[in-house]
Amino acid sequence: MDVLIEGNDGRFCGLNYANVFQLAVATILSAQATDESVNRITPFLFSKYPDAESLASADLEDVKGIIKSIGLYNTKAKNIIAMAKRLVEEYGGKVPDTMSELVKLPGIGRKTANIILTAGYGKVEGIAVDTHVFRISRRMGLISGNTPARVERELLELLPERQWPYVNHILITHGRELCTARRPMCGECPVEDMCEKNFEPEKEARSRNAGKRRNK
Ligand code: SF4
Repeated sequence: MDVLIEGNDGRFCGLNYANVFQLAVATILSAQATDESVNRITPFLFSKYPDAESLASADLEDVKGIIKSIGLYNTKAKNIIAMAKRLVEEYGGKVPDTMSELVKLPGIGRKTANIILTAGYGKVEGIAVDTHVFRISRRMGLISGNTPARVERELLELLPERQWPYVNHILITHGRELCTARRPMCGECPVEDMCEKNFEPEKEARSRNAGKRRNK
């Protein structure tokens, strides 16, 4: 299959950051939150805690207070401080640049690691499977997997490696603008003739929740 648009180095990211450490923090914060909501809180967070060293010694309650406008802020505050501590203790304060090392860090799974590698280092080792990538890949009939890990594996087999950097960004944009969770606008969709339209909102929600439970 060769249907995706190319044209830049694949470093698409809607989050604001000044370096890879800040990208890692912002990406952890963005789980189940919009990029806009994260971008609203990170300027103050990064002005107070600009690097791994400062965040590693941060007060948990202070960090919670700064990020409390986004979902799951209790867990996220613990994770970003724990990640910063691990970076200081084991990586000289730097964010590692391999999938195998990134997924050892608190709060970082394959999806987050893929974003850090692609946007931060221009390296591609996989495809970040978020809710949009998961939903649209299944709706279009591109894959049959019902967990993010299986969806990623199938997409990696299906698509040529040179297209991997673009998949996440393209499907997020498509999912926000046309193929939304509740009301896909198939009549306006440019890939309608390639799509199997495998969707039933309730079934999708059940499958998504089952996938999340299996991935815990
Ligand atoms: S045809 Fe409909 S379900 Fe398929 S990708 Fe387009 S908007 Fe989504």
